[in-house]
Amino acid sequence: MSKYKQEIELARKLVKKAAGITEWFRETGFRTLEKRDHSPVTLADYASQIFINYNLRKVFPGDQIFAEEVIDELSSSQEEIIQRCFHDQKIDIKNLKSTLNYRGNLSNRQWTIDPVDGTKGFVEHLSYSIGISLVVNSEPIVSAIAAPNYDDDGLAVFSAELGQGAEASFGGRKFHPVHVSSQKQLKNARVCISLHNLSDATLSFLNKIGIKESNRLSMDGMGKFCKIADGSYDFYTHLNRSKMYSWDFCPGDLLVREAGGFSTDISGKKLQFKEKICEITAPGYVFSNEHLHKEILSFF
Ligand SMILES: [Mg+2]
Repeated sequence: MSKYKQEIELARKLVKKAAGITEWFRETGFRTLEKRDHSPVTLADYASQIFINYNLRKVFPGDQIFAEEVIDELSSSQEEIIQRCFHDQKIDIKNLKSTLNYRGNLSNRQWTIDPVDGTKGFVEHLSYSIGISLVVNSEPIVSAIAAPNYDDDGLAVFSAELGQGAEASFGGRKFHPVHVSSQKQLKNARVCISLHNLSDATLSFLNKIGIKESNRLSMDGMGKFCKIADGSYDFYTHLNRSKMYSWDFCPGDLLVREAGGFSTDISGKKLQFKEKICEITAPGYVFSNEHLHKEILSFF
């Protein structure tokens, strides 16, 4: 029996509507801006976060928020474009900057928000996603991911609740349960890898264990977790030492586990969510079905 019905329904609705916002920008055109760390950001990232923050504050005013984007200012022309998008989407939000920077109240209920995950993929009209999750006392409880252009059906929305399994809706149809694949043979496994952040270490590992080029799918954003959760691919791995944020991993971590899969770092430890930081004990992670996980970890 779901204990978080309201939260999961809201999470699904928000990522789906946020995808309508980001697609509006993709269709009408956008300018790419640069963040302080030189990574790209667009007004679609800002508009999506404003929309999600606004609604989370409205429904759960006592909750805390960890969201990816923060801004010093929005120019009047930027505000105008975001307002035009909201008008077309029949959304009315006044104070854009303060809504984007809203982080709620100190609470053991914490939402993570990635308003556009895979901004490089978004900018190039390829794969990207929108992901949110609810973490209670450092444990992921609810997650939702919207992946536009997921497959031939277009938009897919995935969701999971701790202990209640994972579900997906393809092309606007009803949600139904999803499960990881039953692939047992590593040599035949199909793998998801990052499109824009693929590390040399990941590539040499895949070559070492003999994953064929034709069995590798490169994509940006959390769609990789979704492909593992619905069984269309068998594992997703990335080997590196870079800093990880909860908003990038929390939704997918819960989704893959609730779909019957495993989510650990390469030493077999669970990912730890400490406010906005996602901590791992070894330089890399593996999300896979239950049959392949042990064998993949045995190589490290
Ligand atoms: Mg992002």
